[in-house]
Amino acid sequence: MESHVECTQCGVLMTTWCADGSPTRYYQCPFCKRTLCSAYDEVFQRGALARRVVAPVRVPAASIPEASREDKRWHEVKGRANRWFARLEAEGSRCAPAVAVAVAARVPA
Ligand SMILES: [Zn+2]
Repeated sequence: MESHVECTQCGVLMTTWCADGSPTRYYQCPFCKRTLCSAYDEVFQRGALARRVVAPVRVPAASIPEASREDKRWHEVKGRANRWFARLEAEGSRCAPAVAVAVAARVPA
């Protein structure tokens, strides 16, 4: 079931989208343009910026602007970059002990 997210500043439901094949979902407030990512679930748990709601808040649909195509595209690219950096970091931490051992082996006793 897809959850609904409400912007705590504006009190409206945030528009949502995700890239094809990606588990990451983005939420954007149509009024203040704040954009959040499902990868950082603690933001929703604390409720400072946004909160998950069970039943959608009733707001006239015509008054809610959609996230722009550029915003959606930007956050897809940003999500891809975040996944890439996370993979690099994970690969780097796996390689780091080997590098430390190799460096230590070159230091004369
Ligand atoms: Zn807002």
